[in-house]
Amino acid sequence: MSNIFQDIKDRIDLKDLVRYYGLNVDRGGFACCPFHNERNPSFKVYEDHYHCFGCGAHGDHTDFVEKLYGVSNIEAAKKISHDFGLGLCDGEIAIPAKRKKLRPPKDEGFELWVKESVPLLIEYKKLLQYWGKIYDPRSPIDKVDERYIESVHNRGYAEYFLDQLLYGTENEKRAMYETDRDYPLTVKIRLDSLDTVCRNACKSKAI
Ligand SMILES: [Zn+2]
Repeated sequence: MSNIFQDIKDRIDLKDLVRYYGLNVDRGGFACCPFHNERNPSFKVYEDHYHCFGCGAHGDHTDFVEKLYGVSNIEAAKKISHDFGLGLCDGEIAIPAKRKKLRPPKDEGFELWVKESVPLLIEYKKLLQYWGKIYDPRSPIDKVDERYIESVHNRGYAEYFLDQLLYGTENEKRAMYETDRDYPLTVKIRLDSLDTVCRNACKSKAI
């Protein structure tokens, strides 16, 4: 008899599953436990179960999602089926002959977004650093150049955003994507509004 819990185990690697739900699993199969606070990974992912040597959390595919989302076991199974496109919900049973290991669905929009955002932010950050230096008001009587103000206002956030995309964990990158997806576009519009001389000014000089 086919059952949804076994189908899930048969069709998804547990490592892929926990990665999909945000864990960074290292080569040894260890990750930081999502069920207790820790800095050093003690959450071990085996082929058919996980075990945390820190807090004792232990279970299989559906147990993981059940605990992570605080839902019932069957709701967890349905969620996994839905998220991985297994089509096991609502009484549908997959045909055993067609079983195969599935990769988690790749979020191409997100990956493309990261790839396109990084060079824009690198350019904008350099430009803001440059403006911060050359338009630094020497005398309080001088009218402050608007590019200096832009530098002061925007530099911190641009640097933070870029750092997250370059050095952040998968979760941190996704958090930027979820909270401020349009920021790189705003940067692009700003860069496009500048003339070439202005855009290239900082490149020719050592900063
Ligand atoms: Zn734990």
